[in-house]
This record gives sequence, structure tokens and C-alpha cells, in this order.
Amino acid sequence: MTSELNTPDAVDHERDAAWQNDIRQWQDDVRQGVRHVRDLAALPLSPAERAAAQAAAARHKVRIPKTYLDLIDWNDPADPIRAQVIPSPRELVEAEGELDDPIADDEFSPVPRLTHRHADRVLLFPTYQCAVYCRFCFRKETLTSIGRGYSQGALEPAFAYIAAHPEIREVILTGGDPLSLPDKALAEIRTRIEAIAHVRLLRIHTRVPVALPSRITAGLVRSLQGRLMVSVVTHFNHPREITDATEQACRTLRQGGFVLLNQSVLLKGVNDTVEALEELCRELMYRLGVKPYYLHHGDLARGMAHRRTTIAEGQALVAALRQRLSGICNPVYVLDLPDGGGKVPIGPCHVEGRDGESWRIRGQDGAVRVYAEVVGE
Ligand code: SF4
Repeated sequence: MTSELNTPDAVDHERDAAWQNDIRQWQDDVRQGVRHVRDLAALPLSPAERAAAQAAAARHKVRIPKTYLDLIDWNDPADPIRAQVIPSPRELVEAEGELDDPIADDEFSPVPRLTHRHADRVLLFPTYQCAVYCRFCFRKETLTSIGRGYSQGALEPAFAYIAAHPEIREVILTGGDPLSLPDKALAEIRTRIEAIAHVRLLRIHTRVPVALPSRITAGLVRSLQGRLMVSVVTHFNHPREITDATEQACRTLRQGGFVLLNQSVLLKGVNDTVEALEELCRELMYRLGVKPYYLHHGDLARGMAHRRTTIAEGQALVAALRQRLSGICNPVYVLDLPDGGGKVPIGPCHVEGRDGESWRIRGQDGAVRVYAEVVGE
């Protein structure tokens, strides 16, 4: 702890020592987790998982920080944390209609490491590596086939593109996981983006607060603080991912002044019950201070048919959630269209029809009422 009696040098020294300690903690967490497919040999996998591990891991890398690994209940073969990170033989079964690039990132990529699908915002890919590799990832083909890390030089064409397009107001760092980068790299990226006057918002899409919460350090927060409004969009999928460590990570981000939102993916066998989603959304908002933002219908990533629900199942779940949760706790159920058509809401519609200015609208209780519009001249 610092005190008023500390000289500035002593304060700097204490702060540096604390930061070094923070760095050691998260690096240990990575080192003691699963980093290679061979590390899976030490885990109590089922014979089928063991048999599939090599082939599945060759298709999509394996990495699981220790904190996340420790959440798995190995006595439960259907454990929802295990299902998200341990390679499954079912990943090797590809269904017709599944795609390498499910939301057409490549088609809308005018320069390397950037996707420009909507006028006012771009996706920027500073790295194609992650702190954890999720079996359901819709960018898994990119992560496997490219696997490139960060370099400032690799982002130069993207920075030039953003500078030349004044309609761009938001830059979304995604990946790969941007928060798997060192603080220095994050500060460099943030500095380059905030030097472009028309950019207003920096968004960071990350699974790090969930899977490697020790990485959310004071140094990381400082590297992202500057001129821009920053929104960190986390990726919690199950209430068991909400722990003391993730709570601390989110508190650190909130206290850094960042706006926190969460997007989840609806995954069969992980979170496709109203109880799991209700607890997830409630605890995100009430305990972590993270607004549930989107619930994504499963994308057409290869080998993921066994984790996708039907849209009708998703609609029934979100209808039940609306009954149970306040508006601030409810995410919007969306589908990212495969041809690059963007994200569209696919939740149940309450408008049943209209007759001129009279609308028939179904209430939360299921009854249809007539709403007559009253509008001034
Ligand atoms: S952290 Fe994100 S980008 Fe990386 S594997 Fe998981 S879902 Fe995909």
C-alpha cells in the first residue's frame, strides 16, 4: 500500500512492483494451464475425448488458462465449462451448410486485418491469437490458418484506411483476443487510433475477463485510457463463469471508466435452459455491473452442429427470459447473417398485425391488445 509519507520515487517503485506481481500472476495462470495438445494427457478425459483430442486440436488450437480449467467439474461429462474448451469428437463431424467464414469477414475486408461492413464502424484484428480457444468459435478457421500475432507494421494499412474514412466513428478490436496482447502493444494501438480525430469510440471484444481474469491489471487499464470512450464487451456464456476473480476483473475495468457489455452465444448443452440464461444475465448485471447486450444464435462454424439450437428454441428461451428479467438484464437475441448482412434481432415479435392506425400487440401476459395510435397534426 502507498501512504502520504511515500516519496514520489517510492510510490513509483511500489507501483512498478505491484504491476510486476500482477504480470507474474497471469503469466503463471497461462503457464499452469493447457497450452498444447500434449497437456491434455494430464486431464481426466473420457476415452472418446482422448481419442479425438489430437485431430480436433489440429483443426482448432487448444489453450485453457488454469483459472478456467479449475472451473471444470470432471465428474460431470456434460459440464458446461468443459463443453466450451475441451476438444470433442463431434467437432470432427461437419454438417452441410457450415462455413469457413460464417459472417463474411473476408468479403468486407478492404485491407488486411480490417473488416468494414457498416459505414460508421470497423473491426480491427490486432492479433489472431487468444488466451483461451473456445471450441465453438466462429472465427476458428482464421485463428487456425493464420495464427499471426501483433506487429505495428501489420496494422499500418488498417490505420491508413481508418484515417482516410471520416465516416468511421467506432473501432472494434477483436480477433483473436486483443486483451491477450501485452500492455505496451495495447497502448500503441490505442494511441494510433485516438490520433485519428473522427474516431470516437474504441470497443474491445474479449474473453479474457472470463477465462484469464488475472490479466485485467492496473497496467492493462492504464494502457487503454486516453481520449477515446472505451467499451469492453465481455463474453460470458454460463453463470459458473462468474466467480470472485471475474468479479474483481470487471470491477477493475469499471473503475477504469470503461463501459461494460456482454455478448453470449446460445450453445446447446451449455446455456440452452431458461434457468442458466436467467442466472447468467441477472448475475452479469447485478454482480459484475455488465449489461447483457447480445445473445447470439450459434453461427455456422464448422463442426458445431451439435452445439446449435434451432431459432424457435432460442425464441422460446428469450420469451421466457422477458417474463423473468427486467429490461436492463435482458439481452437481444440476434443472428449474424452469413452473407455479411449484419446482426439482426430474431427474438419473438409482439406485433401481431395492424388495421390502419390500430395495432394488435401481444402483451407479456400473452393476451393481444389493440393499441390505437394518437399522433398530433
Ligand atoms: S476468445 Fe473469442 S476469438 Fe478466441 S477462440 Fe474464443 S470466441 Fe474465438
